[in-house]
Amino acid sequence: MSIQVFGMAVSRGVAIGRAVLVASSRVDVAHYFVSAEQVAGEIDRLRMARDVVVAELSTLQADLPAEAPAELSALLDVHLMLLNDDTLSGATKQWVLERHYNAEWALSAQLEVLARQFDEMEDDYLRERKADVEQVVERMLRALSRKGGDGEALQSAALGANFGGEEPLVLVANDMAPADMLQFKRSVFTGFVTDVGGTNSHTAIVARSMDIPAVVGAREASRLVRQDDWIVIDGDAGVVVVNPSPIVLEEYRFRQRQSELERARLHRLRHTPAVTLDGLPIELLANIELPTDAGPALEAGAVGVGLFRSEFLFMNRCDDLPGEDEQFEAYRAAVQAMKGLPVTIRTVDIGADKPLERMSVSELRHEHVLNPALGLRAIRWSLSEPGMFRQQLRAILRASAYGKVRVLIPMVAHLSEVRLTLEALARARQQLDDAGKAWGPVELGAMIEVPAAALCIESFLRHFQFVSIGTNDLIQYALAIDRADESVSHLYDPWHPAVLQLIARTIEAANRAGRGVSVCGEMAGDPLFTDLLLAMGLRSFSMHPARIASIKQRVLRADTRRLAAALPGILNADDCAAACSEWLSNAAAAPQSLS
Ligand code: PEP
Ligand code: MG
Repeated sequence: MSIQVFGMAVSRGVAIGRAVLVASSRVDVAHYFVSAEQVAGEIDRLRMARDVVVAELSTLQADLPAEAPAELSALLDVHLMLLNDDTLSGATKQWVLERHYNAEWALSAQLEVLARQFDEMEDDYLRERKADVEQVVERMLRALSRKGGDGEALQSAALGANFGGEEPLVLVANDMAPADMLQFKRSVFTGFVTDVGGTNSHTAIVARSMDIPAVVGAREASRLVRQDDWIVIDGDAGVVVVNPSPIVLEEYRFRQRQSELERARLHRLRHTPAVTLDGLPIELLANIELPTDAGPALEAGAVGVGLFRSEFLFMNRCDDLPGEDEQFEAYRAAVQAMKGLPVTIRTVDIGADKPLERMSVSELRHEHVLNPALGLRAIRWSLSEPGMFRQQLRAILRASAYGKVRVLIPMVAHLSEVRLTLEALARARQQLDDAGKAWGPVELGAMIEVPAAALCIESFLRHFQFVSIGTNDLIQYALAIDRADESVSHLYDPWHPAVLQLIARTIEAANRAGRGVSVCGEMAGDPLFTDLLLAMGLRSFSMHPARIASIKQRVLRADTRRLAAALPGILNADDCAAACSEWLSNAAAAPQSLS
């Protein structure tokens, strides 16, 4: 039976594929196909993991003290029994044999099947046995990763698309953390759906950067969708169609083809300079998460990197955060890939929905951290870890010897933070000199994403060479809406007059002071706002590379002289969105010449 599940559209386009259900805690498990020749090896890995866990549990059991409760030994018996049970071992093997899933994926796929069966059991005791299966699978996953599974995973993942992938796959999960998206980037999925999440959460942002269709906040999706169901993800409308009828499927396939044609058409604009009708050059920069994103950014026509979210280098790591040399290599790789174009490296924005792995599980899930978005985040965290901060600054300074580098400080709100940052930078330079290491000049910029900074922008501009407006957080903090919380996402409104006035004020002040100003939040990549931002005086936009062509198309059709005259009326309207769209349609109908 076909059903529709409604959520929020976060990344455009249509994905059609077989559903792969993944428990949230296992989204970061590697998902890739193995080749026919690798199947036997993969089954060996499974066997090895099982043997390791059997040995572990047997040792535990043998070492149980005589006074240990009898239940403990019985529990270990159950776990040992499960390891030999065909519904786990045999069925997991089948996923590898029939689908060519890698061992970790096969295990989590089978766990998902068993978990559902347990959930449907009437008997309380039996239902609770689900936890035992989960524990056994966790142990096997750990055994697989200890045996160097990751290296192989990455190698094969790169090849994954060539093997066994005759049917496209889409991922369905209760939740995905931004850190999971790094694994997702390397996986075989062509789209995803989650039960929770907001449209401006970092998970959604990374999905947009990958240009893959995604729907979040589809509350019941992971319960309603079954493993292997055919589903359509309509990333434009925020709808998931489960088991679509042939007619509906055909309609979506048609839409898929149309958007591919549109993409190809826009791609042809990539080397066209972004210049308005009245001859003003507009800078279109890229937002990236990893150094490897720099090449594709250049290919998409970016004239620099406006935001390198360096915190993604710190994710999915436990105790070994990247040291100075590792960071230096990463920044240098991005700088060199951009071939002389500027690269703006934001210092780590850890916290809120991007916690570090080493933070405790409760912190990770935000159970005991009140308001994480208002907590120890971004520059606040960096200043609370001065050694770590200087290490990052040293790595950036060293990379700047290889090209044009700008440093961007996130979430600045107090002038004291500016003073401490300047001191840290001076110390980092001194340390490099003392160590005899080469470093280059950097421009220093602040992200304007806290309303306090926008309101006192003139004071901040005295200390920075440029500012970049982070509209994602500016909206969150101006309207007191958690950007990752789907229950209030209807109130997350970029058109709110207060938000627009803060942005306009910042752009105006920066232009007046002769400082660079850019927007790097999601509004920069949304064509609905291009004309309005140009009208405010913005000449630099930073966005996911996938958005550059559509924004360029908009810029090529804009006339900034006409736009500026209409701005006050829009900013003072009760409904800014309606006023803006009315103005745009009138402008489209009016003759183009102004002279
Ligand atoms: C922003 O807040 O607009 C921004 C670009 O930073 P991030 O989305 O990474 O918080
Ligand atoms: Mg931000």
